Amino acid sequence: MDYYSSQISKLIEEFASLPGIGTKSAQRLAFHVINMPPERVEQLANAMVEAKRNVRYCKECCTLTDQEICPICAKEDRDHHTIMVVENARDLAAYEKTGKYTGVYHVLHGAISPMLGIGPADLRMKELMLRLQGDVNEVIIATNSSLEGEATAMYLSKLIKPAGIKVTRIASGVPVGGDLEYIDEVTLLRALEGRTEL
Ligand code: ZN
Repeated sequence: MDYYSSQISKLIEEFASLPGIGTKSAQRLAFHVINMPPERVEQLANAMVEAKRNVRYCKECCTLTDQEICPICAKEDRDHHTIMVVENARDLAAYEKTGKYTGVYHVLHGAISPMLGIGPADLRMKELMLRLQGDVNEVIIATNSSLEGEATAMYLSKLIKPAGIKVTRIASGVPVGGDLEYIDEVTLLRALEGRTEL
């Protein structure tokens, strides 16, 4: 990295620290930024700062939103007695894209992973348990079918079932280890319709 000025090296380092970006891509991005018109660079930087400043967790479902209550939770014609638990906001978006799910969501922001040192306390589970004190008929656990997703589903089912609430798990027509967001809508719908009680 010594071939570049320290400023460029710093920029490359920053890009390389982002998920999915290797050194080569980081270099390409850094030089791209350097060659961009100054106002475009400012626009890009501002978009990041503004998003970080204004985006927060929905008070109900913990998804990312720029309002206190996200548009889905705010909708009165959604079924607020059915809660689908997903790992992240991208999974929520995948189910929303099908346009067929009428309940609401709860976003955990991760899954239990002993390997990565992520435990239940690191996820938005307390918020979910609080919601379950209200009038809830069913909790659909739609975490990924990865090891972590399954462990999370088991943990949640043990936590929720004693409260007498129906707990279901989406069908595992979803390929093992598959991230929900990469699965097509038909498969997602089939997984949802074929859910089984835990
Ligand atoms: Zn919400």
